Amino acid sequence: MPGFEVVGEEEFDQIRSIFDAGGVLFRHGFDNLRDGVYKVRDFENAFADEMRVDHALAVSSCTAALRVALAALEIGSGDSVVIPAFTFVATAEAVIEAGATPICCEVDDTFNLCPLDLERRIRPDTKAVIVVHMLGVPARLDQIAEVCAGHGVDLIEDTAWGCGGSFQGTPLGTWGRIGTYSFDFAKTMTTGEGGMLVFRDQADYHAAAAWHDHGHENNPAVPRWEDTRHSSGFNYRMSELQGAVGLAQLKKLRAVIDGQTRHHDGLLEAVRDIEGVMPRICPDSGVSTCDAFVFSVNDADVARRCREELLARGAGTKILPEAVSWHFAGTWDHMPQLAAAHEGSLADEFPQTRGLLERSVALPTTVNADAADYDAVHDSVRAAVLG
Ligand SMILES: *Cc1c(COP(=O)(O)O)cnc(C)c1O
Repeated sequence: MPGFEVVGEEEFDQIRSIFDAGGVLFRHGFDNLRDGVYKVRDFENAFADEMRVDHALAVSSCTAALRVALAALEIGSGDSVVIPAFTFVATAEAVIEAGATPICCEVDDTFNLCPLDLERRIRPDTKAVIVVHMLGVPARLDQIAEVCAGHGVDLIEDTAWGCGGSFQGTPLGTWGRIGTYSFDFAKTMTTGEGGMLVFRDQADYHAAAAWHDHGHENNPAVPRWEDTRHSSGFNYRMSELQGAVGLAQLKKLRAVIDGQTRHHDGLLEAVRDIEGVMPRICPDSGVSTCDAFVFSVNDADVARRCREELLARGAGTKILPEAVSWHFAGTWDHMPQLAAAHEGSLADEFPQTRGLLERSVALPTTVNADAADYDAVHDSVRAAVLG
C-alpha cells in the first residue's frame, strides 16, 4: 500500500532542485531556463533501468497509461479486449474510453486472470488481453502469454499493484508487449497522481510518446512549435513536480517492498494454523510486492465476521470484503458496454470469481512492520472462524 508512508526529505529535495534551477515545471523545452534539469526524463530513464527495459514513458496516471497503451496498439472501435473480472474499474474504463469493448474473464486461485477461462473468452474481434497482478501477486504469466500467442492477441500488463514484483525472474510489467504502472497515492510508489508505461518495441514507445502529447513527435530537427506529427492524440503528460517525487520514491521501492514482505509474512504466520484459513496462491517463481495479505475462508459470513472482529480490535481490511463493488465486474451494471458484451447480465457471469471474492479477506500491509499487532489479527480471524 505504502509509498506515502516513506515520503520525506528526499522528495522535498528533488522538488527544491527544480526551483533552484529555474522552476520549469514542463517536461519539454525551455532549455535556457532550466539549467539542465529534466526530472520526468530522468525518472523515465531510471525506471527503465529498474525494469531492465530500453523505453519507459511517464504519464499522468495508470488509467491514462492503459488508454495510451491501447492507442499505441491502434485498438479501438470494433475491437474487444479481455480483462479479469477482479480488477479496479480503471482497467475497464480505459477500454471503453478507447471505443473498444471490454470482456471480463474469471480469476483463478491466484485471484488473477484464469488461463483456462481466458481460452473461452477470446473472440474473433479480440485484439488484446490486459492481465492484472491484483494486490501485487503475479498472474500465471507463462500460461496467459501462451494463450495470447496461440490466438495472436497482444498482452498488456496492468501492473498498478505489481511495481517491483517479478515472475520467473522477469520484472512484472515487462512480460507483455506493454506494461503500465500506477503512482497514485495508494500504490507501492507514489507521485500523488502518475503512471508509467514500459515497452518491448521501440515503435510502440514512439507511438505512445506522440499520442500522450497531442501527436508531438518531439522531432530534434525542429523546434517544438514546428514539430512533426502523424496523428492526433491527447494530453496525458506528467509534470516535472511528479517526476521529481518519482525519482525519490523509486530509490525507496526496494525498501518499501521489503517492509511489506516482512509484514505479509508475519500476517501469514499469525493465521496459517487456524483451521479453515486458505492463503491466496502465489504462482511458483512469482515474487509478490506483498501489497496485501489475502486469504479465503469457508463462506461469506465468516469473511464478513473477520472484518468485524478486526475492526473491533483496531485493525482493518483492504478491498475485500468491503470494497468488492469497485473491483468486481459482476456488479458493474453502470458500464453498458460491458453488460452488452455479456448479454446484458453481469451478476451471474462470473460464478468462480464471485464465489472466491465473497469468502475472501485482504489485510493491508505497511512498511513499518515492527509496529504490527499480529495477536489482534490472530484473535480476530480465530474468533470469526469459530463463529
Ligand atoms: C490503481 C489502479 C489503476 C489506476 O491507477 P491510477 O494511477 O489511479 O489511474 C488501474 N488498475 C488497477 C488494477 C489499479 O489498482
